[in-house]
Amino acid sequence: MNHPVPEQPADVVARLRATFRSGRTKPVEWRTTQLRRLRELLTENGTELAAALHADLGKSSTEAFRTEIDFTVREIDHTLDHLADWLRPESAPVPAHLGADASAWTQYDPLGVVLVIAPWNYPAQLLLAPVVGALAAGNAVVAKPSELAPATSAAVARLLPAYLDTDAVAVVEGGIPETTALLAERFDHIFYTGNGTVGRVVLRAAAEHLTPVTLELGGKSPAFVDRDADLTVVADRLARGKFLNAGQTCVAPDYVLTDPETASALEPLLKDAVDALYGSDPADSGEYGRIINERHFDRLTGLLDSGRTVVGGTSDRTTKYIAPTVLADVDPESPVMQEEIFGPILPIVTVPGLDEAIDFITDRDKPLALYVFTDSDTTRRRIADETSSGGLGYGLPLAHLTVSDLPFGGVGESGMGNYHGRYSIETFSHRKAILEKPLG
Ligand code: NAD
Repeated sequence: MNHPVPEQPADVVARLRATFRSGRTKPVEWRTTQLRRLRELLTENGTELAAALHADLGKSSTEAFRTEIDFTVREIDHTLDHLADWLRPESAPVPAHLGADASAWTQYDPLGVVLVIAPWNYPAQLLLAPVVGALAAGNAVVAKPSELAPATSAAVARLLPAYLDTDAVAVVEGGIPETTALLAERFDHIFYTGNGTVGRVVLRAAAEHLTPVTLELGGKSPAFVDRDADLTVVADRLARGKFLNAGQTCVAPDYVLTDPETASALEPLLKDAVDALYGSDPADSGEYGRIINERHFDRLTGLLDSGRTVVGGTSDRTTKYIAPTVLADVDPESPVMQEEIFGPILPIVTVPGLDEAIDFITDRDKPLALYVFTDSDTTRRRIADETSSGGLGYGLPLAHLTVSDLPFGGVGESGMGNYHGRYSIETFSHRKAILEKPLG
């Protein structure tokens, strides 16, 4: 049987670059057509994509639609609603020495051929949402799904060419060798989501071509719980945010930081919240996901004895199941506090109060997200002013990234650059400065 020879990375990029140089991707009509086609792909094949996400991550259909498919549809709709507005040239005041007849403005130019490298945890959303921005800004795109979510990777590789302009959008599947080969090519922007180690590999490769890079990375996102907070609500929201996708969410609350009395009061409430979400045996709940692979399963089960088990603590390697777990009395030096957990384990670390919590946070890498549960305006303001994080959520984990008009991205070790909505246009465009002085 003959297998088609896969196109080499250099040929893919050359083909897309020729399309970009022809000017085809620049008109707004081309961009909106691509976005509408991508929307059709998602609405017509949602069930197939949800099945792939279930195969890769045990994601329930509800969760797959909410956090990946419908999420991306909303991003497309928001972009279609506002694109013309966002692209409008912006005039700038001209200094007097240039004369009253001079004018100045900025124009968004697409960058060219963009590479999007996606991770496995939200393998559809984190590939397609950047693609939405890249297309809306008028670029050609190479999309590299994660090989660790093979069913989703295969579905996307089959569907994208069936809906989008294949001379401007290509999917390259594969792992390290394929990505390394792609990174040797010259792109006009690289958008990488994943971990900081590979982020550094991407940045080094990009430096060779002076290619600008967006790095959407992770890290340990703390959740500070103040003693005045309504702990029943806090426990429910923490559990929902933490155990979604079995904790494999870049902005999941990584650990709880609170004073010892609040920690004691929170423990039984977290147990109740887990019971209410997934029943007494989450292994039987259709709503609870699985760990992506054995490597991550083994890494995570190695962290389970980092504290006293409040709830959960059980696991099953054959099904890659780890129960939603809360650990109390966790020492900041214990293994679970040394790396991003990226799984369903929620340690509670105690500090005497707000001052020490702020020190604890600022002593460590700048997190992708920081969550604060408090009734105090002063506490809210102090955390906002005295800490640095990619995003800040008061009272509700994860939700800031669903606000399309907020930039989503990290700072320091949690990344550089941002996207979503109009910020994707900023990321995937060059804002060109234009001055005009009439010749007369
Ligand atoms: P991953 O292993 O799927 O890697 C991401 C991508 O990098 C994949 O496409 C993979 O093929 C490629 N890759 C892996 N090794 C490579 C190498 N040596 N050279 C070139 N390419 C390589 O995903 P991951 O890194 O395990 O994802 C988890 C991390 O991503 C966590 O730290 C998480 O917090 C972070 N994350 C961040 C965001 C965000 O939006 N900021 C979202 C999701 C995940």
